[in-house]
Amino acid sequence: HHQKYAESSYELYYLSYVDQKEEYAKFQDLVQDALENENFKLYLQPKVELSTGKVTGAEALVRWIDPQRGMLPLAEFLPSLEENGSIRDVDRYLFDKACSYIERWHKNYNQDFVISFNLSEAYYNGPYFMPEYKETYKKYQFPEELIRIELLESIVLNDLEKLKPLVDEIYDFGFSCALDDFGSGFSSFDILINVKLSELKIDRSLFQDYHNEKERLVIKGIVDVAHNLGMKVVAEGIEIKEYVDYLTEIGCDYIQGFYFYKPMPIDEFEKIFVLK
Ligand code: C2E
Ligand code: MG
Ligand code: MG
Ligand code: MG
Repeated sequence: HHQKYAESSYELYYLSYVDQKEEYAKFQDLVQDALENENFKLYLQPKVELSTGKVTGAEALVRWIDPQRGMLPLAEFLPSLEENGSIRDVDRYLFDKACSYIERWHKNYNQDFVISFNLSEAYYNGPYFMPEYKETYKKYQFPEELIRIELLESIVLNDLEKLKPLVDEIYDFGFSCALDDFGSGFSSFDILINVKLSELKIDRSLFQDYHNEKERLVIKGIVDVAHNLGMKVVAEGIEIKEYVDYLTEIGCDYIQGFYFYKPMPIDEFEKIFVLK
C-alpha cells in the first residue's frame, strides 16, 4: 500500500487519485456483493387513477437493504451508483425482476399494470440503454405498452438532438415515455413541444401551499397544457386530502403520493393489487 506523504503537488494529486481508485473499487465490490446477495430490492409506488379510484400502474424504485445496517438512504448511494456507472447493473437487475412479475400477473392473473422505470444518467449518456432493455424484455411475454420510461428533465435538458431519437426508439419498440419532475426547476417547454410523451409528472415541489391561489392556478395550467398536448398527468408527492380534491376537480389523471400509498416491496404490491 502507498504511503500517505506527498513530496510534491503531483504526488499529492497522484495519492488522492490512488485513494479515489481504491474507494471506487471498494464501492464497486460492495455493489456487486449486494447484487449477488439480492440486497437491492424492487419497490413499487402505486399510482391511483382519480376517475376510478383504481391502481392501474406504479413506479419502480430501488431500495438497498443491507443485512447489518438496514435500509440505506438513497441519497447516500444513488449519486455514487450514477458516478461509477454501476447504476446500470442495478437498473437492469430491477428491470428484469419487474418484467418477471409483470409477465406473471399478465399470464396467470389476467392483470395488467403499467410500470414506470427511471432512466439513469449513466444509461442516458451511453449507448446501451435500449439494446439491454430490449434484450431483457424479450425474455418475457407481455405487451410492450406495460413498460414506461421516465425521463428526468435535469438529465435530458438541452439535448433534443440526442433525446429525440432515443424517445422515438422507445416508442417504435412499443414502450412509452413520461417526463419526470416537471416544475422542479427546468420545465422546458421545448421538450413538451418536440418530444413524444405519454405522461407528465408534476414534481412535488409544486405542491407546497394549498392555500396559495397562484400555486393552484399554476397546477391547473400545467394540467391543461398537458391535456391539450394529449398527455396524461400524474401529480407526485401528494400527502393531503385538499390536493386530492383539487386535483380531482381540475381533471388531473393520477396521483402518486403518500396520501394513498408509499413505495412498497413488489411482493406486497402483488398481494394487495394482484392476488387481492
Ligand atoms: P422520482 O423518480 O421523482 O421518484 C419519486 C420520489 O418521490 C420517490 O423517492 C418517492 O418515494 C417520493 N415520493 C412519492 N410520494 C411522496 C410523498 O407523498 N411524499 C414524499 N415526501 N415523497 C414522496 P425516492 O424513492 O427516494 O427516489 C428519489 C429519486 O431517485 C427518484 O425520484 C428517482 O429520480 C431516483 N431513483 C429512485 N429509484 C431509482 C432506480 O431504481 N433507478 C434510478 N435510475 N433512479 C432511481
Ligand atoms: Mg420517477
Ligand atoms: Mg418524480
Ligand atoms: Mg424526483
